[in-house]
Amino acid sequence: MGKLDPSAHPFFQEIATLKVSAHFVIQRSGDVTQYVPVQRRAWHAGLSVWEGREGCNDFSIGIELEGDAKTPFEDTQYSTLAGLISQLQGRYPALGVDRIVGHEHVAPGRKWDPGPMFDWSRLRMLLGEPGVSARSCDWPLIWEK
Ligand SMILES: [Zn+2]
Repeated sequence: MGKLDPSAHPFFQEIATLKVSAHFVIQRSGDVTQYVPVQRRAWHAGLSVWEGREGCNDFSIGIELEGDAKTPFEDTQYSTLAGLISQLQGRYPALGVDRIVGHEHVAPGRKWDPGPMFDWSRLRMLLGEPGVSARSCDWPLIWEK
């Protein structure tokens, strides 16, 4: 994590000082790094609730995007994200588009990401495209250790 700019994203600020982790981090280059096997809990959401269920870390896969509230995300981040989610959906068919939410949605007031610059409709459109998973196969997903 040493090469990440701690000011770039609240996640990076937190991880610099606290015990925080995410399953995946997608950098602005579009490179994705997996830090935690998918079937293990990562500490990314903190105090959170989704559809009445508290503690989202217990039942979610955390993907962080390097970015901020003022700069558009990169095209390559969207395609990497869509490819990654598509692969995860292949493994977890219940992971419908309606279950893909931001930290700002599960921890409102405490977390703001991915924030106003993130184009949710663009992500949904990419996820609906045939062949989306084919773009994501250049790295091996770690399911468990
Ligand atoms: Zn986040």
